[in-house]
Formats: sequence, structure tokens, C-alpha cells
Amino acid sequence: MNSGTRVRRHPSSQMKSSHARLKNTHAKRVVMAQSVDESEARYRQLAETTIDVIIVHDLNGNITYINPAGVRLTGYSQSEIMSINISQLLPEDELSAMRERAQKRIEGDTSVYTSQTKLISRDGRLFQVEAQSTLMMEQSKISGVLVVARDISDRYNTQKILWESENRFSRVFHASTISIAISQLKTGQMIDANDSFLHLIGYSREEVIGHTGAELNLWPSSSDRPDTVSQLLVEGTLPATPSRIRSKSGELRDTLSSLELIELGGQQCILAIVQDNTERIRVEKAEYEQRVMAEALCDTAALLNSTLQLDEVLERVLETLARVVPHETASIMLIDQGKARIIRHRGFEKYGVSDKTLKDVYFSVDSSPFLTHIVSTRQPIILDDVTTSLGWQVVKGNEWIRSYIGAPILFEGELLGIINIDSDLIGAFTERHATGLAAFAHQASIAIRNARHATELEQRVTERMAELSLERSRLEAVLDFTGEGLFYTEEQIIRYANPTFCRMMGYSQTELEGQTTALLIGQAPDAEFFKRWERAKPALLEGRVVRWEREFKRKDGTTFHVAQTLSWVGEATEPILLVSLVRDISEEKQLEAQKMRFIANAAHELRNPIMGLGTRLYLLKRQPERLNEHLLMIERVTHRLTRLVDDLLDVARFENGVIQLRPHEITLQGIVQDVIELQQEIALQKSIRLTLDLMPEPLLVMVDSDRILQVLTNLINNAIHYTFEDGLIHIKVFRVKKEGQDYAAVSIADNGVGIAREDLAHIFKPFYRANKVVQGTGLGLSISHEIMLLHKGEITVESEVGKGSLFTIWLPLLPAES
Ligand code: ADP
Repeated sequence: MNSGTRVRRHPSSQMKSSHARLKNTHAKRVVMAQSVDESEARYRQLAETTIDVIIVHDLNGNITYINPAGVRLTGYSQSEIMSINISQLLPEDELSAMRERAQKRIEGDTSVYTSQTKLISRDGRLFQVEAQSTLMMEQSKISGVLVVARDISDRYNTQKILWESENRFSRVFHASTISIAISQLKTGQMIDANDSFLHLIGYSREEVIGHTGAELNLWPSSSDRPDTVSQLLVEGTLPATPSRIRSKSGELRDTLSSLELIELGGQQCILAIVQDNTERIRVEKAEYEQRVMAEALCDTAALLNSTLQLDEVLERVLETLARVVPHETASIMLIDQGKARIIRHRGFEKYGVSDKTLKDVYFSVDSSPFLTHIVSTRQPIILDDVTTSLGWQVVKGNEWIRSYIGAPILFEGELLGIINIDSDLIGAFTERHATGLAAFAHQASIAIRNARHATELEQRVTERMAELSLERSRLEAVLDFTGEGLFYTEEQIIRYANPTFCRMMGYSQTELEGQTTALLIGQAPDAEFFKRWERAKPALLEGRVVRWEREFKRKDGTTFHVAQTLSWVGEATEPILLVSLVRDISEEKQLEAQKMRFIANAAHELRNPIMGLGTRLYLLKRQPERLNEHLLMIERVTHRLTRLVDDLLDVARFENGVIQLRPHEITLQGIVQDVIELQQEIALQKSIRLTLDLMPEPLLVMVDSDRILQVLTNLINNAIHYTFEDGLIHIKVFRVKKEGQDYAAVSIADNGVGIAREDLAHIFKPFYRANKVVQGTGLGLSISHEIMLLHKGEITVESEVGKGSLFTIWLPLLPAES
């Protein structure tokens, strides 16, 4: 704008006339120089009245004339200005140009110079002027330089503002990161586009200006533009709407475009403001995909944890993979000794590839560059076009594949296999897909490892189970057949009871197991029990056994004494795990009681005769005259004592099992006759009749005859004792078959006092006496019972009170002598 060129190119009509006038004036001045006199007055008037500044200076710049307009503009008076140099009116940067021009003129240059420059007024103000300088000639000699200048400050300022604003807009337009393009509404031709827009579409300015969007193939959808235009005509403006623009390279960019109808140079134009959203959408899409992938991975992880079956796990990996990385087919290969084999696959059916075909195929890692790459780098590989990929083996089943990704299945650095996905399109996969696949490969590796561990574990468990079950069956056999009762409790709950214990309690195993120990005692344990437990606990925890006695209640309600031996089998103080060994000690208890009774009874029985002896000895001293009488009594008592002591010794010996029989073969009839002979006299004293019924056939038995004699004596003696005077005792010797065995039997029936039903069960126990009227020890029948048992025989009794008793002894019969 500060160059003369621009003024020449765009001369305003005002300027044009001014120039013409200046030129005119100049011509006239030349003429005037030649004929000053004639027209000087007329030109002077013109110079004096024109609004243009007219200055004349010599070649040294000394001002020789200035017109009134010049005086007004510069602020110098006529006289002042006549003493200054033109250079004082010009700013520093104009001086060199001026000096250059002066030099050229000295050298003969007669050109008319037009320039825009500034004039400095007396008070220092700057005025933009348009000046024309012309050489003034007088008689072919340069007489000075005529400068005609017009103040154009106002116009200059207006244009400057306009220019600056235009410049600013232009800068904004071009520097904007928002893409802006202007096109003609009518033709659709582009008028202007900023750098951002050009960058977006990938064309140069030259390629764009003057062309339509359709020519540039910017609209992926051909209907887009007309629709938009008709809508724009109605609305005048279109708010930002998502659209797509195809760049020069064919790439589709996602944009947000708003359109505005504007008027430029009297033409309707479209101002398009386009925001490139491709990156944002790509990021959003990537984020979305990332999320889908994370969710899918999460799902697979959850699925993987729900099974340890390798096949199932791999199936699930492939299943979820499809959600994240779109593909046609996927497979998992395991690598073994340099060979990769497909063990699981998906999607091949639709290409008519059978499971068998796939499973028969194997790839040698060494001869397959991409497998080697995966194996050696442990990184996924993308093959955009398998047909051009070196070493891609076309085998039956994979002919249709065009692009491929393979990712290694690694576990703790060990390569377990490869996961593959395939597409029938070239370049179907991106880096992102490869990353996704690698993540799935990682999941697969965990699954494979877990499944392998599970298989190993299962095998170990099976082996251990077999061992345990053998151990258990051994233990069970021991527990089941042990004579000891045993049960196992966890926190008072019976978890196991062995058959012996069940028998003891009268419950079945199922009835006991799962019940609390309260069932064993028929009630909740009392405070006493808990005290006992607290005392026992420390010992149990130290690993010692505790033994105590308790009363257990059977299912039928009867109680019995047990000795319970407890041992703690738990590892810690909690839970309380105990094994109890149980022994039924009721018999022991009874025996104990019996022993106590025996001692008490024996002492009692011995005391009476000893006291009797004492009395007789006392009397003997006092009544020496009745010596014989007392001696007889002493003899009787001594005899009774001897018998009593013998009996006591017998009982003790039987109990200790130290009685030795001296058996020999005899006929039973013989012994019976002997006893009756001996007892006849005593019976006669009570006028009791003894009758005998002997079987004629001799009954041979193998017995200790002294002991059998003792039994029979005792039985006949009792019969005499417990039968009133004039009673009857019938003795019978006979043979009988009992449970397939032949017995020789002797029965002794009396018609005496008889024995009450409740006493019958006890009369064979030592010291048991049903009838206290008659003197006796209560030992005879118990001894007889023991003797019969030793002979593998038996003694039985039938009796009724007031009617009499029938005692029978049974002895195994020897076969008759031939
Ligand atoms: P003892 O006769 O010395 O009392 P035993 O052991 O011989 O002791 O007999 C035990 C008990 O059996 C007797 O006390 C008596 O009550 C009863 N008893 C034995 N034999 C008869 C019998 N023949 N008739 C009635 N009671 C008998």
C-alpha cells in the first residue's frame, strides 16, 4: 500500500483527475518557463489558490517557493520556510530516496516521480501525502524541482484501518485451527479455504480454489451436498452437524460442520466452518473398545475361574475373543517339540473345514517365518496380506484367509502356544487388535496353566484318595471289629461310632452319628460334668489321655457304667475333636460290689462260729465237769468252720480259675448211690424219705468224681434242709438229648418250701440266700454251678413256693462201652 504501484493499479477517480491536473500543471510550468512573463500571473494565481501543496526547491534541496496551501500544511511562515531545506520536511527514511532522485537528476534524469511520503509539519505532525516531483528547466538548464503534494492523510488512515482489519481477518482466517472454506452458492466452486481446511482435506490451495466439493470427491455420500444446500437456502444457517469428508488420500474424516450463507462481492456464498472430530471420535472409539475389551477380559477371567477343564476354558477364551476383536475364525495352537498343532478353533465350519482337517494339520515352527517370529520375539504379529507374506503356508482349510494376527501364549516366560485370528479381508487387523489378542492370549495362558495344574492335582488327589481309602478301610476294619466301643466327636457332635459302641448303646450308626453326646447320657450334661471337663482339658491339650467313668443310657432306657478314655485329635484348641474309647464296666462294677459283699459275708459267716468256739472255751474253763459235752460242740463248730473255709477257698479258686479237675470215666449211677448212702441218716433224722430211680443202663461220664459228689451232696443236703419233716425227696438218674447232644442227668425233687420266682435268678450267686431261717452260707449252689460249668455241664432249677423244688444236673454222656 505504501508503494506507488498500488496507487497506479487502483487509481480512484479523484486521484486520476488530480494526476491529470498535476501533469497539466507541470506542462504548463514548462511552457511558463519559456514564456514567464506572459503567463506567470495566471500560474501564480493557480498556485496560490490550489489546495495542493506546491514547493519548489533547488537541486540542493533549498526551498525557493511554497504556496499558501504548503504554508498551511507545514505550519511554517513564508519567510521561515524559504530558509529551510526540503530535507527538513521529510522523515529520515525518505531522505535517501530523495537524495537518490536528486543525484539521478543531476546526472540528467528528467523523469516525473510520484510517491507517497510523509511531510513533517513545524510542530512535528506527520502528514501522508501523495507527491509528484518534476524538474523545472529554464533555458535548457535545471532551475529547480517542482513538488506538487496532496494531503492524503485522511484517506490513508481510512485505508490503513481497512487494510489492518482485512489483514487481521486474513490472519485469523488462515491461522485458525478450525477449518474454514468459502464457496459460491450457485456453482459450488471454492473461493477460499484456510490452511486448516486444506490440511483436513489434504489438497493444496491451487487444487481447491475454483473447484467444487464434488469434483474433489469430498463427500462420501453423494446426496449430502444438494440436501445441505437446499436446507441452507431455507434456514440461512445450519448448526454444527456431524458429517464425513473424504480427504485426497481417500481417508474418511469425521467432522462437525456448520454452514452460513454470506454475501461476498454481491455474490451469495457458503461459509463452511468445519471441526475435525476424527481424532476425538477415534479416541472415544478406542476408549469404548478398551472398555469393551476390559469387560470381555473380566468376563473371561470370571468364566475361566468357573472351570478347570482345559477344553472348556479354551472354548470360552475363543468365545469372548469374538466380542472384542472381530474376526472370521480363531484358533489356539499348542507348541510341542517345534510343531504347532491346533487344539481348539472357532468359525471354521462356515468355510466347510472340519475339526479333523484342522487337527490333522501341523506347522513346523522353524519353516514358518511368522511362527518363528512369534516364538523368538514373544510378540504378536500382524499379516496384512498373507498372500504376500513370506512363508505363509496354504494348507487345506486356510486357503480363504487374507489377513492374520498371531499372539504368543506365554506363562512365566514359557511359550505354551499361539492364539490365531483370521479374516477373509486384506488388512482387516490393526495394532489395537493385536494388543487385544495379546491380552486374550494372556488369559488363555492362565487357563492352560490352571487346567494343567488341575489335571496334575486331580491325578495327585486320585492317588492320595486311593491311599487314603485304603488307609481308611484298614482303619475302618480295625474300628469296626475292635471289641472296644469307639466314637469320634467334633464339638460334642458324634461324627463316627463304631459297631461295638452302637451295639453297646442299642442305637444304629445312623441314629448316633450327627447327634450330640447328650444322647449318650439321656440328658444335657450337668454342672458336675463341666467341672470335670475343665479339669481334664489341659491334660488333653498336652496330648495325654484322660480316663473317667460315667453312666451311659441305652436306647431302651437302661443305664450302664462305662470307662471312657478320651484323646484330643485336633491340631489346635478349636474345634474340639475327640476320640473316645468306651468299655462297658457294669460287670466289673458288679463284680467289685460282689467282692465287697463276699468279703463282708465271709467275715460275717466266720464271725459266728468263731464266737461259738470262744463261748465253748469259756464255758469249758468254768465247767470242766462238762468237758465232753463242750468238746463235742467245739468239734462240731470246728467242723462247720472247716467246711466254711473250704467253701470260701473254693469260691475264691473258682473265681481265679485255679481249680483243676481230675476227670475219669465213671458211671453216674455209682456216685449217686454213694451220696444217698451218706445222706440217708440225716434224712431219717427229719423223717424224710429218699426215693431213687436209677436208669438201669449205666451212664458213662468223664468227671472229677469228688467234685460231682460235692455237687450232689450239696443238692440233697439242701433238699433235706428246705423240706419239712416227713417230706419226700425223689432222686432220678436218666439220660436225655438236649440240642442234639446226649446228656446223663440227675434230678433231685423235694416237696419242701420252694423258692420264690424273684430269688431263682440269684441262688447260684455266692452268699445269696433266699431263706434265712435255715442256717447256711449261701455258697453251696454257687460252687455247684461252677463245678458243673467246668464239666461242660449244667445245673438248672424249677421251683414253686410251698410246693417244692426240682434241681437237675446235666453231664455230657460218653458213648456207651461196647
Ligand atoms: P445255703 O443252703 O447254705 O444257704 P446254697 O447255696 O446251698 O446255700 O443255697 C442257696 C439258697 O437257695 C438257700 O439259702 C435257699 O434259700 C435256697 N435253696 C437251695 N436249695 C433249696 C431247696 N431244695 N428248696 C428250697 N430252697 C433252696
